[in-house]
Amino acid sequence: MAKYHLNLAHLYGNLLNTYSDVGNIIALRYYAKQMDTDIQVKVISIGQEFDPAKFDIALFGGGQDYEQFVISKDLPNKHDGIKKFIDDQKPLLAICGGYQLLGKYYVGADGEKIPGLSILPHYTLSQDHNRFIGNITIKNEQTGDEYHGFENHNGMTFLGKGERPLGKVISGHGNNGQDHTEGAIYKEVYCSYFHGPILTRNGEIAKHLLLTALHNKYPDEDFSQQEKLIINPTF
Ligand code: GLN
Repeated sequence: MAKYHLNLAHLYGNLLNTYSDVGNIIALRYYAKQMDTDIQVKVISIGQEFDPAKFDIALFGGGQDYEQFVISKDLPNKHDGIKKFIDDQKPLLAICGGYQLLGKYYVGADGEKIPGLSILPHYTLSQDHNRFIGNITIKNEQTGDEYHGFENHNGMTFLGKGERPLGKVISGHGNNGQDHTEGAIYKEVYCSYFHGPILTRNGEIAKHLLLTALHNKYPDEDFSQQEKLIINPTF
């Protein structure tokens, strides 16, 4: 029995699950176990209430335009809960479609404008008959860490005030193929176009998300042992 327990909300996990984004949960559990922590997962989908007080960490995965459109109708019901979760500095990992839907809007490949949650200030435009597909390497300017992944998206995302990129593009396309940014960090929200899933190849991000959740939930505990966890080298 683990000493610490985290509750994870998998937002729209039954609809936004392309390219094995759910593997991020497996990676989180792998590292959590080494931190004497277990993770209880609950999918929160269409028509279900998201109560931020019940969760310590969240995943918002990627999807296709059709699913994103369906989900956009339900987003207003979850807006306040997700905003409170984010404002409380709780960690959320958002990939591709989920990343786009946290922002102002996403213009789909057929030109239809899909409204987002408008909690993060970015917006996403569509490219004409093109997708950004392939391996990508970025560098996090704060930590100096390099992250490796695979991107596959039509959307071109432009960051807004109050968010900074997850990293600077070394090779690949990133947010929009123009400004050399990839992903976004806003409070404790980590957004990325990396599928694959991102946490299996970039365990430092998993470690950061878990430690943030543990410190939030157990403010009086000493997690210095957990901080020392050595992450498998990236590849
Ligand atoms: N449908 C979105 C796009 O093509 C998101 C894709 C994804 O999540 N991989 O940009």
